[in-house]
Amino acid sequence: MFCPQCGNTHQVMVGNICKICFLKDFKLISIPQDIGVTLCAHCHSQSKEGKWKDLGLSEEEIIYQALEEAIDVDDIVSDINIELEILQMRGSIAECFINTHGNVMGEDMDQEFHSNVRLNKSVCPDCSKYNSGYYEAVIQLRADKRPLSKEELQTADKIIKETLNRMWEKSRMAYLAQRVEMKEGIDYYIGSQKAARKVISALRDVFGGVMKESPRLISQDKSTGKGLYRTWISLRLPEFQKKDFIKYEGHTGQVKSMNSKKIIAKDLETGQSIRALWKDYEQIKSSAKFSDIQISTITSKSPTEIQILHPETFQPVDLHIKDHMNDLEIGKEVSVIQIDGKIYILPDE
Ligand SMILES: [Zn+2]
Ligand SMILES: [Zn+2]
Repeated sequence: MFCPQCGNTHQVMVGNICKICFLKDFKLISIPQDIGVTLCAHCHSQSKEGKWKDLGLSEEEIIYQALEEAIDVDDIVSDINIELEILQMRGSIAECFINTHGNVMGEDMDQEFHSNVRLNKSVCPDCSKYNSGYYEAVIQLRADKRPLSKEELQTADKIIKETLNRMWEKSRMAYLAQRVEMKEGIDYYIGSQKAARKVISALRDVFGGVMKESPRLISQDKSTGKGLYRTWISLRLPEFQKKDFIKYEGHTGQVKSMNSKKIIAKDLETGQSIRALWKDYEQIKSSAKFSDIQISTITSKSPTEIQILHPETFQPVDLHIKDHMNDLEIGKEVSVIQIDGKIYILPDE
């Protein structure tokens, strides 16, 4: 065959021309001269086909990824090897160099390409919500019939910070938009409902308490008809705290622990555990504080009775002896608590 381009008659033909002429113009890859990438200037999320995605990439990685996605290797190339390099940044444009090596019809070829990746910096919807102070939920932390203690406030702040920090990697909406401290408690404004739920569950694990949710319709999206709800979640901590005294179903006990489900107290009469669920909180009576504990002295003891001096009147009081009192000696000081006119000797902690 005769090549119309070079006149050669001894070469393999590719279509109308010979292999040498074909390879002279052959490109191992095709890549656009200019590539545009839209990314969020704050969080590096990328907008692709109208959707924002946070892939957790650095700017450099985004440029390399854009090049990789734009490169099209010709089907007849084998053993392709591509090296990418950012030569320099000119403003928001990355000037890139692409070095390629491949095999075409038995011939090894090396080719170099240049391409510019333009970073179109924008603000993603999540970041723009964050910047505008947007929030979907308000957590109202309160305590029943008392102010929140300083300790409780500090613990709550810490739990919220840690929970949101953990979520931030995956969700840009896991942020605290506002923290408002008031006489009656504290309000935390949280970016997303999902983050607020995580926060509430972390708070309940530590504090327990009674939760109530009230979603309210804030506005309606005219295009989708979907409502935007903002949820107020109140968490009411109990009137009593750990080590305080409660009365529940006729039993008097000292609170030992609380979790998201229940309160566990130790019965002052039997030493057994009293368990109460938060849903029955209204049936629990807060009967004395840890700070109400007083000191008394044992004045006499028999196998069945123990006598102490009343901490206020100093009159002798006789009590039935219980297991935890067996080791008590006359003259020993003991902790006592007075509840509804009755005195209990507390076991040593
Ligand atoms: Zn030719
Ligand atoms: Zn963003």
